[in-house]
Amino acid sequence: MMKSIQLFFSFLKVKSDEEKPNLKQHTRHIRQASEYKSPALQEIWCHLRCLWFPDRPDIDSYKVYWSRRPQKHTLASCNVRYKKVRVARELDNPKYSHWIEPLLYHEMCHAYLGEPKASKTGRRSWHGAEFKKYEAQHPKIEEFNKWVSSGGWRSAVRSDRARRAFSNR
Ligand SMILES: [Zn+2]
Repeated sequence: MMKSIQLFFSFLKVKSDEEKPNLKQHTRHIRQASEYKSPALQEIWCHLRCLWFPDRPDIDSYKVYWSRRPQKHTLASCNVRYKKVRVARELDNPKYSHWIEPLLYHEMCHAYLGEPKASKTGRRSWHGAEFKKYEAQHPKIEEFNKWVSSGGWRSAVRSDRARRAFSNR
């Protein structure tokens, strides 16, 4: 995100007045470069929301994307300010489709609880006791966390790189 903002401003700086970029168009270009929409993800998101948080229809307004950038450590992220969830493109593979639900459910718990209060040192505990309590309700969470910690995610990253290297030959 930071990088795209920097890029955006340097882009503005080099252009003279008559060459000023179309702001809307440029923003769209950056967005396309970093993520892509998925109706399928969006559908799972709304399905999970109805099931687990029926009292919070506002959560349906989150936009759920696949990340275009290769990920190594981040399976998914939830931005509660911009109401946006991004899922690692490495999981955009039928082989891993059964992990999407527990993964999106984890992100939805962030959406439900919102930004945690900062401690005196300014730190925010995103995965505190309350979060864990909600997260544990989903029946696939435990199995999913085991899959991640036992190397499942690492192998998803490896096979994504191998597949892309092969298709670029
Ligand atoms: Zn989290």
